[in-house]
Amino acid sequence: MDSLRQQLLSKNNWSESQLARQVEEKRERFAGLLSQGAAIELLARENGLEVKKELPPLQFVSLASAESGETVNVRARVLHVFSLKRFEKNGRKGKVRNVSIADETGTGALVLWGNDSSAADALERNDFIEITDALVKNKNPLELHSTLLTKLKRIENEEGTQAQANLVEIKDLQDGVEADFFARLLEIGEEKEFKREKNGVQKTGKLLRALVADDSGQVRLVLWDENSELARYARPGDALKVESGVPKLGRDQMLEVHLSWRARAVLNPRAHGLKEREELWKAKYPERRIAEATEGETVLLDAKLDEVSGCRIVRKCKACGVSVNLREQECNCGAKEFRDLLVMETKLADDSGSCRVVFFGREAMQVLGINKVTIDPQTIAELRAEQLAGKPLKVVAQCKSSPVSGEKEFTAKHVL
Ligand SMILES: [Zn+2]
Repeated sequence: MDSLRQQLLSKNNWSESQLARQVEEKRERFAGLLSQGAAIELLARENGLEVKKELPPLQFVSLASAESGETVNVRARVLHVFSLKRFEKNGRKGKVRNVSIADETGTGALVLWGNDSSAADALERNDFIEITDALVKNKNPLELHSTLLTKLKRIENEEGTQAQANLVEIKDLQDGVEADFFARLLEIGEEKEFKREKNGVQKTGKLLRALVADDSGQVRLVLWDENSELARYARPGDALKVESGVPKLGRDQMLEVHLSWRARAVLNPRAHGLKEREELWKAKYPERRIAEATEGETVLLDAKLDEVSGCRIVRKCKACGVSVNLREQECNCGAKEFRDLLVMETKLADDSGSCRVVFFGREAMQVLGINKVTIDPQTIAELRAEQLAGKPLKVVAQCKSSPVSGEKEFTAKHVL
């Protein structure tokens, strides 16, 4: 405030008494509702001076000294981020996410309710965070809950980055040993639902399968329940950090990493040091010209879109998996839940020849340049025909023979 006074005096060449008179005029105009300080701020603004609001510095407490019922500010290290939990209470849907935290005085649970839970999405194990205005719900064990005012942010670690002791490479994964690792998605399946019984209660579980790789090797992921929602955001090529994945031997005696409620996959983690996408594809799949690819092979094609020969929605029954007519309300099996899949048939060409290539779902949408199917996809393809013709495409595709014609064709797995 004093500096604002000084700035006003020098800017306008006022004497102290001139300033005092200006202040009084302001206060009179506001019928005495303006404090001395506020009047000076107002004058400063009118004179084009920059007024910085100085907030009192936040007071932080240690975890051990947080008392039940208080609203506190704390700084802590992230020990573990649990996967999101959704629930229904009194007919209302909610979500919650728990984060284990620690400082030098102790540990605690940070419970993030509703939309606050998304604040944990980008958090990684060992991050330092600052939490302000959290409510201490319980002292022992310590539980901090988010409220309307709670804010969470990541801060730089004063002690420098701590070694991530449990970070491993894919080749070093061991059966039954929980691990953290970075990897890129090679393939990602679809969220699948299944019924399971727990303590006599029927529940719907969810499952997603994916294949990931780092420089040392590749491994399958099995993502359970909320973790399966990764399918909605991630695409092949994306970097992931798996935290607390549990490798187990699959039926084929190959390791697969399970991500249950304790585990999570962080999309686009910070310092991952993985190879760039393109390098990954080139390392994993041979580059082939259309004429050179042989049946059964998954290859990297560098071709041009010759034409879109058809674009449609195929509706599949979620229960039995058969195709259902779009006009039907019910599958022959009695189920009423369907999954719509965009199917696009194209002809791709390179200097060696041309071939039928089929794109599905998001890959088809990427080629079409759309995010959502809002109108008949055939119409979209026709409207865009001119822009699409000749479009260069790099595609990871599997070569096979058509079940109908027996001719060679490709199924696109991923569009780069
Ligand atoms: Zn069915």
